Amino acid sequence: MNRVFTNVRIFDGSGSAPFPGELRVEGNRIAAVATGPDQVSRDDAVVIDGGGGVLMPGLVEAHAHLTWPTSVEKFVPGMYQPPEELALTAARNARILLDHGFTSAYSAGALSKKLEIALNEHIVSGGLPGPRLIPSSVEREPPNVTNLDPGHVAEHALGAEGVRAFVKECAEIGAKAVKFLISGESALKPGASQELLYTEEELMAAGEQARQSDVWLTGHAHAAQAVKLGVKAGFRVLYHCTYADQEAVDLLASHKDQLFVAPTIGIVQATLDANPPPHFDMSHMKADAAIVLEKQKALVPRLRELGVKLLPGGDYGFPFNPNGRNAWDLELWVRHFGYTPAEALHAATALGGELMDMELGQLKAGYLADLLLVAQDPTQDVRVLQDKRNLKAIMKDGVFHKAPGALS
Ligand SMILES: [Zn+2]
Repeated sequence: MNRVFTNVRIFDGSGSAPFPGELRVEGNRIAAVATGPDQVSRDDAVVIDGGGGVLMPGLVEAHAHLTWPTSVEKFVPGMYQPPEELALTAARNARILLDHGFTSAYSAGALSKKLEIALNEHIVSGGLPGPRLIPSSVEREPPNVTNLDPGHVAEHALGAEGVRAFVKECAEIGAKAVKFLISGESALKPGASQELLYTEEELMAAGEQARQSDVWLTGHAHAAQAVKLGVKAGFRVLYHCTYADQEAVDLLASHKDQLFVAPTIGIVQATLDANPPPHFDMSHMKADAAIVLEKQKALVPRLRELGVKLLPGGDYGFPFNPNGRNAWDLELWVRHFGYTPAEALHAATALGGELMDMELGQLKAGYLADLLLVAQDPTQDVRVLQDKRNLKAIMKDGVFHKAPGALS
């Protein structure tokens, strides 16, 4: 069925201000966008009066964890769930992301080897609601509350051959991205952010195998050396990059057309804001988050100036940082990184589309019809995207996940 959105202002993802216009969807693609008084064809189309709202591309979450259990709908105190429950939780989280306007998600790792791959098959075949997903394989062994050890390298043997076999296996079972903790995580284990968990030889082998197996590599990289090795090994996405020194920054800049950086500020601010019960000591995590926040506030504007592609996405799914809250990241980009709301939205849409490597994230003819109709203007106040009731319509691949109330 063809559809025409009229009486809308269009934020096309470019970062420029919304303009009055119309948009026509044919099948799963945007067929035409008209500006100002011009109209798009109404042939064989259902016309939707947008009520003066803003039509914008669907959002892209660049650091998704559908298997991290906590969501805005269901609090889960730890990280561990039995496999049956984990599967259902992940499916539920996929729907929650879509409900909140995220029509695409790039996985930053799963707690199960095959779960996201199977889930994605159900989403693609129309059986379950969820975002377009770049599924990942296991990030590490399923941690539990007493054993959150990012230094534990799951299942795969070390050494170049072990790493190579892991990448190959992930690709063979259908993962599109393979996640490595290149350095550890100080929030969980003091000092670990500066520790490399892989050797240069192992990372180069991972890169080589990834190119052979046609999968992307995604890296958790706080340490400067982790960033440098990630770039050299051909990682496509590097998270955090907190301690990037001048040499690391230069390397990121000289590879800016081949990679993306996602600082994941959501988890950092959520850690600082968290108000845990007395028996749960977060003092170390909070001290680390305060350092990371200051580092990121300095680093992100610098990388942006150099043209590095920076993406929102904030490690949602922890008890104090639930899945579904993902649009909060945009507010933090405005607050901490000096972005205007429109610039933050550009990063979460047009750049996100590049991350997904699909014709996504922009409202222009020929692009896939993933779009949101928002009651208020998010380029004026990006926080409006945090309340799903403001999303009057959510379309993914030309099909309404949430249909607008008033069809005319
Ligand atoms: Zn993560």
